[in-house]
Amino acid sequence: MNRVSAAPLPPAMAGAAPATDAFPTDNDWPGLALAAAGIGTPLDPLALERFARYRDLLLERSRQFNLTAIREPNAIEQRLFLDALALLPVIDATLARAGAPLHAGSRLIDIGSGAGFPGLPLKIARPGLDVTLVDATGKKVAFLQELIAALGLDGARAIHGRAEELGQDRAHRERFDLATARAVAALPALLELVTPFLDVGGFAFLPKGLAIEQELRSGKRAAKKLGVELLPPVDSPTGDTRIVIARKTTLTPKAYPRRTGIPVHSPLGQGA
Ligand code: SAH
Repeated sequence: MNRVSAAPLPPAMAGAAPATDAFPTDNDWPGLALAAAGIGTPLDPLALERFARYRDLLLERSRQFNLTAIREPNAIEQRLFLDALALLPVIDATLARAGAPLHAGSRLIDIGSGAGFPGLPLKIARPGLDVTLVDATGKKVAFLQELIAALGLDGARAIHGRAEELGQDRAHRERFDLATARAVAALPALLELVTPFLDVGGFAFLPKGLAIEQELRSGKRAAKKLGVELLPPVDSPTGDTRIVIARKTTLTPKAYPRRTGIPVHSPLGQGA
């Protein structure tokens, strides 16, 4: 992909970015509306307006504290928004096959949401979803709360806490139809953090890189202990991500998730 561009700075951005920022990076970025339509997730005008506000607020707050390493408008749209939206065709196809399509009020939890990814773009594209974003970092949760209010989103909330603790809390455990988590942990630990939130019959969609064979092997062993089965991973329509899909088949044993830090430091499914 061509990452060199001579395009002039749009007026809205002039003076807004530090002089060292390379901008824009892509000549060939068609804009979020076209790109999203191109992967089968067309966005209505309200969604596009919300994404523009999200992008601008993310750029603004990223200058004040560490929210995401991606600090360039096109890259935010491409690598954060579009990547998240690319889950939707996969979610739709998986749920259709299971005979339980998304409906108004379907409950989704996004673990380790950071600046909202992928949960918040999913909420913007499908406002009928009921979305809970969880993060262990207070500043990020404060940003998410600001964002939810600024975008005027109903049926969305951000909770400050650790998945290890919230996953043992009856208010959250086994209460969700869908779970997502991106860039939070390797698969075995991630499954322990995520699957306790899923109701039996629910699905987790976990975007990963392309080289996941080893993670998948240990992930499969962990899945057995957690009451989920791994379906064959699906390539994202954006091309550089494989989406691991887990389906909850039985209640997760009460022992999981283990105490804070243990899922990552002693992952299930290590060894034979
Ligand atoms: N999902 C976002 C952020 C990834 S960074 C994205 O793709 O951009 C990982 C985030 O997970 C951080 O914000 C961190 O605070 C959070 N996190 C890590 N372990 C966690 C845990 N056990 N419970 C809740 N949040 C966690």
